[in-house]
Amino acid sequence: MTKTVGVLGGGQLGRMMVEPANRMRIPINILDSAGAPAKQISAHDGHVDGSFKDAESIRKLAKTCDVVTVEIEHVDTKVLEEIEGTVELCPHWSTVRIIQDKYAQKDHLRSHGVATAESKSIDQATEENLKAVGASFGYPFMLKSKTEAYDGRGNFPIKSEADIPEALKQLGNRPLYAERWAEFTIELAAMVVNTKDGTYAYPTTETIHENSICKLTYTPARGVSREVAKRAEELAKKAVATFKGKGIFGVEMFLLKDNTLLVNEIAPRPHNSGHYTIEGCHVSQFEAHLRAITDEALSEDDLQLREPAAVMLNVLGGKTPDSHLKVYEAAKKSPRIRIHDYGKAEARPGRKMGHLTVTARSMGEAEALIQPLIDEVDRQAG
Ligand code: ATP
Ligand code: MG
Ligand code: MG
Repeated sequence: MTKTVGVLGGGQLGRMMVEPANRMRIPINILDSAGAPAKQISAHDGHVDGSFKDAESIRKLAKTCDVVTVEIEHVDTKVLEEIEGTVELCPHWSTVRIIQDKYAQKDHLRSHGVATAESKSIDQATEENLKAVGASFGYPFMLKSKTEAYDGRGNFPIKSEADIPEALKQLGNRPLYAERWAEFTIELAAMVVNTKDGTYAYPTTETIHENSICKLTYTPARGVSREVAKRAEELAKKAVATFKGKGIFGVEMFLLKDNTLLVNEIAPRPHNSGHYTIEGCHVSQFEAHLRAITDEALSEDDLQLREPAAVMLNVLGGKTPDSHLKVYEAAKKSPRIRIHDYGKAEARPGRKMGHLTVTARSMGEAEALIQPLIDEVDRQAG
């Protein structure tokens, strides 16, 4: 019997989950405010209006479905724990609880033999304590909020002792930890899916961040040997297999100068670094997630690229409220660029408004096709 899915959050990830759910006739109910991006493309009365942070609304959503999933990890895990048994949780509440605290997440990974950057909890945010971290890790090091972090909001790179007062001003009222600087040559990511039959990985992707926000992804990762890419996929699978609950995970990694890999962080949900899978792979990360959590068939072969290369470019809010629309207009001039707008009412600088994808017979061709759009995105940047 087809399972009904309930989703905490109806932003762009929920919206892109609704697309294959509609195609496959999987009933899907969204908990978010009325008119949220995911609800705009799903006209039925099974949705719940409310906040995915509100306990009563989560209980209400749980009554409408067989499986509860998330598009965001910053949710109340006590309520998830409470509703366990009445619905299936994908991911499990314990997975969300560990991952939403980035320090607990790193502790968990290390205890399962997955290498991460060395980190240290800062129990009292004082100049003295941060100077002690600097003395032990050296500079630069990264100060991070343990919770509620995304798009780099929650990170402060401390380049020298002189940065400490400003770092404390910005992050001092949040739960903090410090991370040793990772001297990476390239950032990699792999989407991984836990299914009833096993843990499968998508190909290794190269991610390019600007101002701590993902800007571009290149798949397969450029300049990375097949051996390293394979190792990254195996590491990502090993990391995800330690978490309870079916569904998709995004695994961010650093490739260091000596060719070793560290896991940066894990998201227990669809992830920006996997958007290329919509056109790039036989089965997208969103469809793979739905298939995994509803116990339908999925094979690792279906996660492979359909063409030799895929590039994804994020479209962020820019210098004017219509900057993202100008990028789409430029994109429409090329028949090869696929446009994904998220239906967000308001554009703010740096807000993820949509993305573009190109697939091609070679990476060189994909790079040439996307370059005019990178230029347009840069022109529109706020
Ligand atoms: P996301 O939006 O992916 O959830 P986030 O806010 O949780 O991001 P991180 O992934 O921790 O932030 O860090 C953002 C970026 O900062 C990384 O992609 C990387 O470029 C850089 N970074 C993070 N940690 C380190 C580190 N220990 N050493 C060097 N660079 C780092
Ligand atoms: Mg994060
Ligand atoms: Mg990150």
